[in-house]
Amino acid sequence: MVAENSSEDPRVLLPTDHPDFQQQLRRVSRYKKALSVLSFTLLCLSVILAILLWKSLSGKDSRSKNTVPETINNKFVRNSSQGHVCLTPECILAASTLIESIDHSVDPCEDFYGFACNGWIEKHSIPRGQPQWSVTDQMTEDNLEILRSLLERPLDNIEGTHDTNQYDLIIQQGGISLPFEDFYWDSDKTNSLVSFMSTVVERTNGGQGDPKEIRRQVQEVVELERQLADIGMPEEEMMGKYLTLDEVDELVPSEHMVGSWKDFFGELAELFHKKTRKPSISFNGDTRIWVQYDYIVKLADIVRRPESIQFPSTVTPSKRSLWRNNILNNYLTWQAIQPYIGFLAKDYQKAEHKFMKAIYGIQGREERWRTCVKATNSAMGFAVAPLFIHQRFSQEGKDLAYDMIEEVKETFKRRLEKLDWLDPQTKTLVKEKISNIKTMMGYPDYIMDNKALDRAYESFKVKEHRFFQNQLRFNKFVVQKNLDLFQTKVDKDYWLLISPPTTVNAYYAYSRGQVIFPAGVLQPPLFTEKQPMALNFGHIGTLMGHELLHGFDDIGRLYGPSGHKRKWWPNRTTNAFNSKSRCFVKQYSQKIFSGWNVNGERTLSENIADNGGLISAYQAYQRWAQNFPLDPMGLLPGLSFTEEQLIFLGFARAHCSTTKEKATELRLRIGRHSPSHVRVNTAVKNLAEFAEAFNCPSKSALRLSPDKRCSVW
Ligand SMILES: [Zn+2]
Repeated sequence: MVAENSSEDPRVLLPTDHPDFQQQLRRVSRYKKALSVLSFTLLCLSVILAILLWKSLSGKDSRSKNTVPETINNKFVRNSSQGHVCLTPECILAASTLIESIDHSVDPCEDFYGFACNGWIEKHSIPRGQPQWSVTDQMTEDNLEILRSLLERPLDNIEGTHDTNQYDLIIQQGGISLPFEDFYWDSDKTNSLVSFMSTVVERTNGGQGDPKEIRRQVQEVVELERQLADIGMPEEEMMGKYLTLDEVDELVPSEHMVGSWKDFFGELAELFHKKTRKPSISFNGDTRIWVQYDYIVKLADIVRRPESIQFPSTVTPSKRSLWRNNILNNYLTWQAIQPYIGFLAKDYQKAEHKFMKAIYGIQGREERWRTCVKATNSAMGFAVAPLFIHQRFSQEGKDLAYDMIEEVKETFKRRLEKLDWLDPQTKTLVKEKISNIKTMMGYPDYIMDNKALDRAYESFKVKEHRFFQNQLRFNKFVVQKNLDLFQTKVDKDYWLLISPPTTVNAYYAYSRGQVIFPAGVLQPPLFTEKQPMALNFGHIGTLMGHELLHGFDDIGRLYGPSGHKRKWWPNRTTNAFNSKSRCFVKQYSQKIFSGWNVNGERTLSENIADNGGLISAYQAYQRWAQNFPLDPMGLLPGLSFTEEQLIFLGFARAHCSTTKEKATELRLRIGRHSPSHVRVNTAVKNLAEFAEAFNCPSKSALRLSPDKRCSVW
């Protein structure tokens, strides 16, 4: 599996209502596709290409700020202090979606989420094959339908602290079959995995072999995975360092591994370059790679230590080493085939579906066309995107989204001035970091040039009627692409392959200091240049704030202005940050239903991002409105909300979702996001601006006295 360093961190995901397990589900399926044949030889490690240094960006954006796209200015003439009513299809759609969402029987000052979302929840049931449904799931569905119609039509009318500043290889944890470490201590989950694996092995053996023996061997593999899960570390503790390949080989002696790491990488490079004209990358004992050191030490211990295995009494000490190697062999074989099971014949898919149902509680299966559109988009997302962009995303939209995020950044910087817990020196560095954050908006420009696009996919040969082989070819293509990057200079404008432009999601990449807003998420109802800006700031502005704030949450703050993970805050400031954060931990640790609480510690990063993001977007709109006292788009028809109210409504509405109880339980147990109603209601009650916007009386649930409010940024 080749991807970029922690930059694809899952917590960067949309603050709308995706339970983390669903993200995992998507990630799992993405990984399946991304795992190449080569992973066969990778012992429970992901080999990852990383960007190691993010050189400071100049921060000079030549485009002017606060420019409203010309098309908008031309279309509407402001005529009175009241503003006009906007009657474009987009405004009418925006107004009607808001009207259908709102539940006027709920007092917004008591339960803002209920006020903003009950109507939506009532009208949307959870579709088959899904554990939950949200506004962004609906957008994903819409995009999929658009892609389907685009892909099915003839194509002839289409137009066209690391200090090296280069891509590197990373070895870090991975290689377990259940989506979360703590599932290995739940016997229902491990039994489901054992049954799934046994079915696959039996089927592969063509019904040969003793089912009991197969099950026993499978159980050994699951036990090994449990040990790997046991040494897995949370993201924030995944520290590492550079080692030469000789040093890595010393750390994990080759007699305990498949071969030496040096040889492995050498053969890997040769295998991939023998068909290309490019010279093979040379790996030797001095080649430096980045290693998640603490994990590898523990891993070596597990691999090396025969006593970690429960040997049956029939296995004599002299046979133990062979026995252990068999387990490792089985494990590696499973790791190699597992990602492909979903692409195999129906009975394999059935077995996998049964497993997914047991793990995630999903009912039903998706239609065939969905599988096809998703697979095409996943493999060739950047080639499919121009079709989508031509139809659904304009240059005006792209420019406007850029201007909005710049406004949010500027607002965040200004807010820093008022923070008394942040010392002046760190304040300057934080400002520098925010200026350095690179924004990727909509899509990378090269994809709109047919020739450049052809070059990008040149080595990916797709053959008709060869679904499975095409998946293998795609994975080889990805590995090769990433190997090509090894030791080359980091391209700051490089888009991660995992986020094609049609994705309905947004990301903050910790180590790259980069925010990504694919065109797929810059769509109605969340965003369009043809609806009032208060709504845009409420929907997508708060999401921009959220993603930017990840750069300053409890994990993001560890990365300095140039992307290095290092100590750059004095202790006093760190302590102040921690004590400010404690307020959130306490506030969010609330009971949801019998026996289930939100985990304030685990959800802290997201909560910091939600709170800081909301106020930054709110104030960014105020700054925007100073320059444009009357929104050129006018007022929404049929609604009498103030612009301030619209911002909060936009924020809440982006989180509307309906979730099965099992999914909520799972989120509370392992998720990094709090349930939607907690996210919305807690973030708004921390803001005096909210209580003011809705005229909340002093005893309202969502009007906290100043001493009870929490805030970090
Ligand atoms: Zn987030």
